[in-house]
Amino acid sequence: MKYYILFGPPGAGKGTHASAIAKKYNLKHISTGELLRAEIAAGSELGKQAKALIDAGSLVPDTVVEGMIESAFDTIKGVDGFLLDGFPRNLQQAADLDKMLAGRGESLKAVISIMISDDAIRRRIAHRAAIEGRADDANDATITNRIKTYHAQTEPLIDYYKAQGKYFECDGDNGTLEDNQARVLALVESIG
Ligand code: ADP
Repeated sequence: MKYYILFGPPGAGKGTHASAIAKKYNLKHISTGELLRAEIAAGSELGKQAKALIDAGSLVPDTVVEGMIESAFDTIKGVDGFLLDGFPRNLQQAADLDKMLAGRGESLKAVISIMISDDAIRRRIAHRAAIEGRADDANDATITNRIKTYHAQTEPLIDYYKAQGKYFECDGDNGTLEDNQARVLALVESIG
C-alpha cells in the first residue's frame, strides 16, 4: 500500500486536486475535515464537540482525528493506497501516524505539498464561502485563526518531513486551476 499526505494551508486546493490524484493512482482520498463535517451533519456527539472548535478555527483533539484515520485504514479495501488530506496537522499527529503505519508494517511514501501565500488563502476561502457555505469559511476571525493555527502547528511538519526526505512541494497559486492541477499531478508522477 502507498500512503501519501496531501499537504498545504487552508484553501490551497487540496480537496480539489485530491480527486484527480486519487483517481489516477487508485488511492482512497481521506479528508479529516470532510469526515468531521459529516459527523456534524449527522448530529453525532463527536460532531457536536467538534463543531465549536472548527467554528473557532482551532484543531479538534488528536485522538478524534487519529481514530477516524485508523478506522479508515482498517475498513477500506480494494485500493492501492491512501491520500490523506488535512491530516496530520501537528507534530503529535505526524509522530502518531508514523507509529500507526509502522504498526501495520507500512510507511509513508511522500508528502505532496501545495503552497500558497496568506493573501491567497484569504482570497480562496472567501471565494469558497460563496460556493460551499461552510460556516468556518464565512467568518473573518475564524479564517484569521485558521491561518494562525496553520503557521503555528501545521507548518513545522515541513521540516519534520524534509528531515525524512519525503517532502515534495509545488506552487499552487499561479495560472489557471488546470495549470495548478497539472503541476500537482506532475509532482506526484515524479515521485513515483
Ligand atoms: P481547510 O480547507 O481549512 O484545510 P479542512 O476541511 O481540512 O479545511 O478542515 C476544517 C477544520 O476541521 C479545521 O480547521 C479543523 O478545525 C478541523 N480539522 C480537520 N483536520 C484536522 C486534524 N487533522 N486535526 C485537528 N483538526 C482538524
